[in-house]
Amino acid sequence: MNDMQEQDRMILDSVHRFCEAEIDPQVHELEARDEYPAAIVEKMKEMGLFGCIISEEYGGLGLSTEVYSRIIERISRSWMSVSGIINSHLIMAAAVQRAGTDAQKAEFLPRFATGELRGGIGLTEPDAGTDLQAIRTTARRDGDDYVVNGTKTWITNSKYGNCIALLVKTDPKAEPRHRGMSLLLAEKGPGFNVARKLEKLGYRGIDTCELEFKDYRVPADRLIGGAEGRGLQQILSGLELGRINVAARGVGVAQAALDEATAYSQTRKTFGKPICEHQAIQLQLGEMATRTEAARLLTLSAARAYDRGERCDMEAGMAKYAATEAALENAIAAMRIHGGYGYSKEYNVERLYRDAPLLTIGEGTNELQRIIIAKQQIERNPA
Ligand SMILES: Cc1cc2nc3c(=O)[nH]c(=O)nc-3n(C[C@H](O)[C@H](O)[C@H](O)COP(=O)(O)OP(=O)(O)OC[C@H]3O[C@@H](n4cnc5c(N)ncnc54)[C@H](O)[C@@H]3O)c2cc1C
Repeated sequence: MNDMQEQDRMILDSVHRFCEAEIDPQVHELEARDEYPAAIVEKMKEMGLFGCIISEEYGGLGLSTEVYSRIIERISRSWMSVSGIINSHLIMAAAVQRAGTDAQKAEFLPRFATGELRGGIGLTEPDAGTDLQAIRTTARRDGDDYVVNGTKTWITNSKYGNCIALLVKTDPKAEPRHRGMSLLLAEKGPGFNVARKLEKLGYRGIDTCELEFKDYRVPADRLIGGAEGRGLQQILSGLELGRINVAARGVGVAQAALDEATAYSQTRKTFGKPICEHQAIQLQLGEMATRTEAARLLTLSAARAYDRGERCDMEAGMAKYAATEAALENAIAAMRIHGGYGYSKEYNVERLYRDAPLLTIGEGTNELQRIIIAKQQIERNPA
């Protein structure tokens, strides 16, 4: 934390206190009931977290990606679902900040920053996830509007949020396919229907839904950047930020599992001594601590590269891959260290075990990350 500003430290301190006071006492109940944490969201609005990486010029906190990733790590250590409420919202905001027209920035960024307008990204469809160029949702120009038809699925923040950065085909016949793809800022209105909330293994409390668009009209000036055919690129460059965010979530979950295992292993006794004195448990704790710290360093390294404005798909991919696998491995290890209690709904490790696998899927699966890393490895090291 050496090169962080005093103001950054104060923000991180206040996030830490917020997690202890507002999230920790409630997470068990809210998660069990799959209840949206509305009061926590209101508090996050007051703290300015919905605008944490939106520039101050537009009413945000203007924080660096490094500080942002530390905030996400801390929140995820308490409850991963809460971090998801700002993650895809900020990917949408970042797309406008980076690629939007001046008018779009002036109109949308201040509303995103306060959380008045909240939401996420609508990319995935029933038949297209990793292969985004296969999406079928269309946006046909009709006078001053686009008319949108199609289905999106797994869209987080879409029930309680009110705006989505929507990936569409403005030219379904274009070759290469990405030239026909565009990104629209879609505020809820007639024809924008939340078809159903999806039931999930973990990541509960946060709303993830299927959306249907039936002749839904979006004013043409909501086309991000004002030119068609750039949508895939606009969203893919935002995914680097998303991947750093998911990596930070992984560090938070890995740390939470380590915290739980460290504490439990000192109180649970077998054969006359705390289990942390058995070498088999020590080996696991040693691996868990090392994985967590390695994941944190990769994540901070990717965040700093992003802050310097460097291309960092390889770094973000490595951080995402390593940190999310660390979360999954630590969650299983923490459960094993808890013995039978790890399988009980009364202990936090059970939730971590259900939450962690999502991280290996969202913002590009870990299979895809390894492919991205390998391609960059070859490109950067020609024979
Ligand atoms: C809880 C949750 C929240 C989500 N939130 C959002 C959201 O807010 N917005 C949004 O747009 N999406 C969201 N998603 C969707 C998520 O991004 C996709 O599930 C993910 O991108 C994978 O797509 P898919 O499920 O269609 O899997 P597929 O693309 O069908 O992949 C299936 C398997 O094949 C592998 N695979 C695919 N292509 C290749 C390849 N070329 N080489 C090797 N292996 C390959 C994958 O790694 C995976 O193992 C969410 C998903 C979940 C579960």
